[in-house]
Amino acid sequence: MFLKRIELQGFKSFADKTIITFDSDVIGIVGPNGCGKSNINDAIRWVLGEQSVKSLRGTSMSDVIFSGSDTRKAVNMAEVTLVFDNTQHFLHVDYEEVEITRRLHRSTGEGEYFLNRTPCRLKDIQNLIMDTGLGRDSLSIISQGTISSFAESKPEDRRGLFEEAAGVAKYKKRKIESLGK
Ligand code: ATP
Ligand code: MG
Repeated sequence: MFLKRIELQGFKSFADKTIITFDSDVIGIVGPNGCGKSNINDAIRWVLGEQSVKSLRGTSMSDVIFSGSDTRKAVNMAEVTLVFDNTQHFLHVDYEEVEITRRLHRSTGEGEYFLNRTPCRLKDIQNLIMDTGLGRDSLSIISQGTISSFAESKPEDRRGLFEEAAGVAKYKKRKIESLGK
């Protein structure tokens, strides 16, 4: 499984519809300072269900919507789609290609999620990606500063990363849910 394509519209600095295609399973994003590299990283994590505004480098969730520039008006909606190659059915759905979309409307603050263009819940996305290595705290996306924070983290926090990598995070989350915590 690998990320084939990312489509952004109205997300952070990507005001216009932007399609980025990847042809390898290892992706590195390079470019000058401020060109939007970290915004792409934010977009990927956002679609995968990131709820922490702080980790998306904002103060409110609507900060992910293009807020205008000297020459462009702000837009009212952000939408990002990730397209995964799923020919090996790494994600447990029948589709050979899996499209996950998240949308946010500025006016209502309402978020929407779609799986292959069909509306779904955040929980459906979370269940789909849990223990695939794509989870929120997984190591498949290395953000700016991640390496140093990993090296400096407390042992119990570092353990969380190993649990995600080992595939036990799912069971831990279910246990906490069933205990009603
Ligand atoms: P560096 O190499 O310094 O890490 P980078 O390529 O990672 O840079 P980003 O942090 O992705 O850069 O992009 C920063 C740019 O995105 C800034 O110019 C900022 O104004 C712009 N930006 C962030 N959020 C929005 C938004 N909601 N609307 C418009 N522009 C935004
Ligand atoms: Mg950056």
